[in-house]
Amino acid sequence: MTGTRGYGHRAAWLTLASALVGILLLVGGAGGGSFAAKPAKAESPITLPEPEPIGYSVEGRPIVAFRLGSGPRPVVIVGAIHGSEGNTETLVHQLLRHFATTLHLLPPEVSLYFLPALNPDGLSRGERYNARGVDLNRNWDSGDWQPDSRDASGRVAGGGGAAPFSEPETKALAEWLFAQRDASGQRVTVLFYHSAYPPNGVVMSGSAGPSVTHPFARVVGYRPASGRWEAYPVTGTAPIWCSHHGLSCFEVELPDHRPLSDAQAQRHAAAILSVLVWEQTRPDQRCFAETGFAWRVASVRSGNRVEG
Ligand SMILES: [Zn+2]
Repeated sequence: MTGTRGYGHRAAWLTLASALVGILLLVGGAGGGSFAAKPAKAESPITLPEPEPIGYSVEGRPIVAFRLGSGPRPVVIVGAIHGSEGNTETLVHQLLRHFATTLHLLPPEVSLYFLPALNPDGLSRGERYNARGVDLNRNWDSGDWQPDSRDASGRVAGGGGAAPFSEPETKALAEWLFAQRDASGQRVTVLFYHSAYPPNGVVMSGSAGPSVTHPFARVVGYRPASGRWEAYPVTGTAPIWCSHHGLSCFEVELPDHRPLSDAQAQRHAAAILSVLVWEQTRPDQRCFAETGFAWRVASVRSGNRVEG
């Protein structure tokens, strides 16, 4: 980041983004979205980037990333950390297709990475854990790692893995994120998608902070949250690890396990664009890592089963 861009440039991006968000929501609201699951028209195929393996699962399945844009600031969208949350993988693919058709609207400073599935083995079985029964959002070297984990089903013996980063999937993503950070010299933003958080979904601030995530929540219509995850105790999570290593991260819990409609996916694309533009306007903003655990996740006290 040169730090020499003037406010006028940023204001122009804000105006552009605001216009795009309006267009996206208008199209989505009219039910006319077409970028998601529908096949591309023969006369205008969508050109997608080649997938790049960042590592391999326990059973040898590739964990791939797609890159759009060539700017120095990495922004990473991760789906299917839990294999039972297949709609997050679908959504990341929907977002990839969308942004591939609107590439010219990306801020030039950004490289946008899409990792549809961190847990391809679990996904192949429709199971939360990886092939060794480890929860890939409890296996990070976050300072509070524990060998046993907890989730909506209760305590899971060995769910945290044999040691922090004992699993090839978490180790691969952590090393890849470090490589992005070190190569770019920029703050890395990471969005982790999960499901499900009924009835309306939630956006958890993480180290990105509410100034980033509240606008996101507003666009998608989910509840913004900060603070601790109260549904059950969690340890060894990716967001905590990110916060300790200067990465700006936040989590989005979809309301349920159903695939998103075109219109719903368009709202997420608009929300991501709002984050990109917001961060563009605040190049000197630093990660809130110093606040440690205080920001950590949140939950509503409700009778709904939360499976994030
Ligand atoms: Zn999850």
